[in-house]
Amino acid sequence: MLKRWRLEIVLTLMVLLTLVAIIAEKKILQSSISITPQSGYFTEVYDDKRNGGNSISKILNPQNFEWRCTLRDAFAYPYCGFEIFFDPKREHGVDLSNYNKVRIWMDYKGPNKTLRVYLRNFDPLYSSPDIEPSTKYNQIEFSTDLLKDQYLEFSLKDFFVADWWLVEYNIPPELSHPQFDNIILFEIQTGSKEPLGEHNFHLKKVELIGQRLPTEKWYLLIMLAWLGSIVIFLGYRITSLTSQVHSQKKREAELLEINSLLDLRSKQLEEKSKTDALTGAFNREGIEEAIRIGLWEWRSQNKPLSLILMDIDHFKKINDQYGHSVGDKVLSSLSQIVKGHIRSNDLFARWGGEEFVLVCRNTKIEQAQLIAEKTRELIASYEFNDGVRVTASFGVATLSANETLEQLFNNADKALYQAKNNGRNKVVTADIF
Ligand code: GH3
Ligand code: MG
Ligand code: MG
Repeated sequence: MLKRWRLEIVLTLMVLLTLVAIIAEKKILQSSISITPQSGYFTEVYDDKRNGGNSISKILNPQNFEWRCTLRDAFAYPYCGFEIFFDPKREHGVDLSNYNKVRIWMDYKGPNKTLRVYLRNFDPLYSSPDIEPSTKYNQIEFSTDLLKDQYLEFSLKDFFVADWWLVEYNIPPELSHPQFDNIILFEIQTGSKEPLGEHNFHLKKVELIGQRLPTEKWYLLIMLAWLGSIVIFLGYRITSLTSQVHSQKKREAELLEINSLLDLRSKQLEEKSKTDALTGAFNREGIEEAIRIGLWEWRSQNKPLSLILMDIDHFKKINDQYGHSVGDKVLSSLSQIVKGHIRSNDLFARWGGEEFVLVCRNTKIEQAQLIAEKTRELIASYEFNDGVRVTASFGVATLSANETLEQLFNNADKALYQAKNNGRNKVVTADIF
């Protein structure tokens, strides 16, 4: 039962899964990277000293992403900032190409009107691991007023690449777009036109929100899953159908074999029922059938029907002299040699005891007489096991018009009797009377 419904169950499950995959696409595909002081990222503060400035940046609490920036008027554009590294070696960052939002939870105290966020991308086409500023400056600058909200949220689409960086590193136009496929660090920096003085930052959390997979790839996967299932299903059906056809053929062949065996067996049984067990010659039932056919041929087609009765001479003496079992062997061997010499149309049967009958269909009396003579010679010249020799006497008769079967047998019997009286080992034909 379950087997019959298997396809329906699998299909329903797949439809349900597909529906879930479509409806809950956003939930399933959404992935996020959360950065907190506890996340264990390597962090650093920097300032404009590298440009000959005199500003000072200082981590206030290393466990809490808290830092202070004191901007001083020495460099033309005083700055300082805080970096969180995805890769301290600044080469293998995270791929944010499928990400679309960044959220920032931060407190700021200071005179700044704007702040900057950078997502810095490493690409060997323009970056070198030894020169930190050679990573691309994907940048956004925002008003500090926005910090009044619970958190800041920016779309990665709104990021742009800092002009000064494009110029400084001589970036060709085809590489000048924002790029997020290998972000090595997240950075917060004081904004442009910075008022000098003290700036206190406390970054609580950064969250990068995106998709594990682009939507089109997700739908492609769903389609591939369906295609794959269909291919698997078809393959399974083809192999199971082929094996069904195979086993069907095998069953048919087996049935045919059984049938022919049964046919053979029933033929054997039928033959056995018409065969004499000792001699292998036909028994009386066999004779009956042969005579029925012969009689029908005689009546409807005028084909002559002849009969040869045969009786072994002095067989009693064989038994007496050699024993009954030797007598049996003689009867059996004699049957074999006679059967081996007669025509296929003639039927050789044991009439009883040491008496045999040859029903010769479509055979005239002269022909039957010849057959009897040949058989007589065959037996007389044959040496049985143990050197036993026997002879037999023959009475031949043919069915004449208006005669009954009984008369035919009587005539043959009389002829046989005559053969015995004539000294045995003789053939006597009935029509000599
Ligand atoms: P005749 O020439 O007058 O026919 O002499 P006969 O001895 O052959 O005839 P009779 O009828 O007196 O004896 C037939 C013998 O055949 C007697 C019987 O023991 C033997 N006999 C008949 N059936 C079988 C048989 O199945 N096996 C053996 N071993 N002997 C058999
Ligand atoms: Mg006899
Ligand atoms: Mg006899």
